[in-house]
Amino acid sequence: MKTVAIGGFFHESNTFNPIITGLEDFNIFEGDEYEDKKNSYLLAKGMVDFFEERKDYYKVLPLFFARAVPNGEIDRNLYQSLKDRFFELLEQDETPDIFVLPLHGSMRIEGIGSAESDLLKDIKARYPNVPIVLGLDMHATITQSMLSHTAGMVGFKTAPHIDAWETGYHAAKMADELLRKGAKLTVGYEKLPYLIAGEKSETDFSPMREIIARLKEMEEGDDVLAASLLLGFPWADTEENGVTALVVTNNNQAKADDYAHQIAREFEARKDEFGFSSPAYEAEKALELALNETVKPVFVSDSGDNPTAGSTGDNTTIITLLSTDLIDNCKGKKILVAGIYDPIALEKLKENMHQEIELSIGGVYDTEYSEPCTLKGKAVRHVENFGIFASELMLFETENFDLIITSKHIGFTGVEMFKALEIDYMNTDVIVVKLGYLTPDFKEIAARGYLALSRGCTDEVLSRLNYTHTYNLI
Ligand SMILES: [Zn+2]
Repeated sequence: MKTVAIGGFFHESNTFNPIITGLEDFNIFEGDEYEDKKNSYLLAKGMVDFFEERKDYYKVLPLFFARAVPNGEIDRNLYQSLKDRFFELLEQDETPDIFVLPLHGSMRIEGIGSAESDLLKDIKARYPNVPIVLGLDMHATITQSMLSHTAGMVGFKTAPHIDAWETGYHAAKMADELLRKGAKLTVGYEKLPYLIAGEKSETDFSPMREIIARLKEMEEGDDVLAASLLLGFPWADTEENGVTALVVTNNNQAKADDYAHQIAREFEARKDEFGFSSPAYEAEKALELALNETVKPVFVSDSGDNPTAGSTGDNTTIITLLSTDLIDNCKGKKILVAGIYDPIALEKLKENMHQEIELSIGGVYDTEYSEPCTLKGKAVRHVENFGIFASELMLFETENFDLIITSKHIGFTGVEMFKALEIDYMNTDVIVVKLGYLTPDFKEIAARGYLALSRGCTDEVLSRLNYTHTYNLI
């Protein structure tokens, strides 16, 4: 019987966002809570499921799990306490035979840097002989510490990320090869100094589609345990950022090196083909085009302020345009803006439900690319405890558009939020979402989609951001 320790934290930290991510932003669970909350952390669930299917050989030691919506760097004290808890739980049990960890790969701690590098270094210091296998996000930043402290790793193969469970399962399978079948994991990798805007790397489109197909083909060959293209995180100005081609083989270093080299060359050969998968325009133009469409609902992604890629979520560019410059275009159109993060405005509206009120919204954190916007309207619907991060939601009706305001920094990723607020979204002409490429949920209902190249912490035009490190920007 082998013991497998599974646990970790998952966060993508945007260094352009001044918010310090704190305890209230996290969904944390451990022990018995795992059963109830496992569906909120599918990368971890894939790992646990694999070993539970092989109960005769394995005992799973679930540590703790912590997830937050991408945001600014993590509070240093919070991280320290999460890490302490991680080791406290470990020490309560026997020494594990292996660590299989569901990590993002681009989580950052204020004053420390890469969380994964730090955690892995500390695990190795305490458990030098216990191998570590990782399941990672596609946007993982592969650091030297991650390479030197782990036996193997595998990343997501889909963007939008719909294979988190499969990736967890894959990592677990690699651990099984090592532990039970005696495989010797050999890793080949090549780092490339590129950063690609998130919305240029959707895996349903070229060239990612073909590159991913090639990875899968490699994995079907003899001795290849995992082949990944980890893109790094474009909205982090960090020392070890960039793209990494990484292949894990069974005791075949030459093949691991050769395949990693092949993936890297393929990426470089096709780097000029990376482009936006939806029509992309400056924010005002994208809104104008959407407002002129005759089909509905037309989606506009406010991509410069995409909280699922760690932006502030409170940039006011779009609501300012809709309430000033584009007023005439809005006439007769039903418009929904989903949404904005502003706990203070939400509190004020709660005290003045169903009353006409003028108040300042947004622009509190993103002071570089936006400023607070004054809006007049009425709060018409309030929801408590929405989603896994238990955010409050408010629907605020203004003359030109309806606006969803959230109390927590969460993503706008699916119709559940609209349903919770009883919004007739299929009869809405234009739906603006703080998002990049549309999620499968939105794609299914979107009559058309535009990418608004708004400014913000997740600016898709990477050359407009002030990086201090040198990368080739795509
Ligand atoms: Zn990602």
